[in-house]
Amino acid sequence: MIAHKVFVTQILRTLGIFNGKKAFSAPETVQIILINNCNLNCVVCPIHSDHLKQKKELKWKQKKQDFETIKKVISELSEIGVKEILLNADGEPFLYNQLKKLIIHIKLKGLKCNIITNGTLLNKKKIEELQKLKLDRLIVSLWAGDAKTYSDIHPEQTGKTFTKIKECLLQLKELKRTNRIPQLSISNTIFNKNYENISQMIKFAEEIDSDYVEFRIAGLLHELRKFELSKHQKETILISLKKINKNKPTIKNNLQEFQKAISFSLNGSHRMDRGIPNKIPCYAGWYYSKIDVDGNVHPCINCNNPMGNIKNTSFKKIWHSKEYNKFRKLAKQKYKGSYFKNYLCNQHCCLYIKNLSIYKKLNPFKKQL
Ligand code: SF4
Ligand code: SF4
Repeated sequence: MIAHKVFVTQILRTLGIFNGKKAFSAPETVQIILINNCNLNCVVCPIHSDHLKQKKELKWKQKKQDFETIKKVISELSEIGVKEILLNADGEPFLYNQLKKLIIHIKLKGLKCNIITNGTLLNKKKIEELQKLKLDRLIVSLWAGDAKTYSDIHPEQTGKTFTKIKECLLQLKELKRTNRIPQLSISNTIFNKNYENISQMIKFAEEIDSDYVEFRIAGLLHELRKFELSKHQKETILISLKKINKNKPTIKNNLQEFQKAISFSLNGSHRMDRGIPNKIPCYAGWYYSKIDVDGNVHPCINCNNPMGNIKNTSFKKIWHSKEYNKFRKLAKQKYKGSYFKNYLCNQHCCLYIKNLSIYKKLNPFKKQL
């Protein structure tokens, strides 16, 4: 029955994409931003880095998702056919003190639940709890494969933090011998302070038995551009990737895509997405939506152009609104014009891999990008 429902939703989503102006099904994934505050200040963080001239105000950092409102919305998302909730933060989601209650509610409603975290607030008890709660995926954003590199790029943290995260993930590895959830992903953002650490990052992911390890080039703006990879550093990465591929990593990864992005960026562009957003349509308006801490609904991760607010309108109404349909129609065009100036499509698109995979499925005979 569930498989049948998923199949029908998929067909309706595809029909919506062909229509180009409307959605006939709910989004597949809704990302919920729980809190703005973070306990770290990673050097290339676009929000919390100490290297940024314009700092966020305390008032902004103190914002968090209203629990009762988001609980109601999650029930609605389940009713309209959303498949998964991605809990995230413009900071660290484990700082949200109702996180456990929220995961329970999401799972009760039959939705998949994934979390992106920096891993620093994990401990033995929380790891056991996450497994009991049947969390589906834990994505740990680490950016280092050893304690030294970790402390170099996380001001105010020592190698002990890295060791503590590692111990928690090794504990998860043990627990997963009898129960394979949650799936574990290690996410690594690469820039000029950690580019020599890639093989250790893979080794680390293998050691903790992660299900997936991913790499991306840091998308750096303003003062953070001083952390961009130089030409020589990119060439060094390509040499090390060759060696890594020879040894055939045992873990699932996106190294091929990362290698392509590095080669592309050798021509002067620092983009992980290889300029793809302006070569193909964007389908985010059919499969994705984001709710920020204020309850604003956004059609894409980067966007700062709310389509409505869940505090005064139902999600369904916002999802099918004229404004959302306008986004769909314009995003489906290959060239992302002035409407998208706040979305940073032309600088950094976080959803291009998903967009590219849909594009390839819908255009099997077009030249590969
Ligand atoms: S953990 Fe994430 S949100 Fe926090 S400072 Fe680092 S990159 Fe920014
Ligand atoms: S950044 Fe642009 S291309 Fe990427 S998902 Fe957002 S709107 Fe679509």
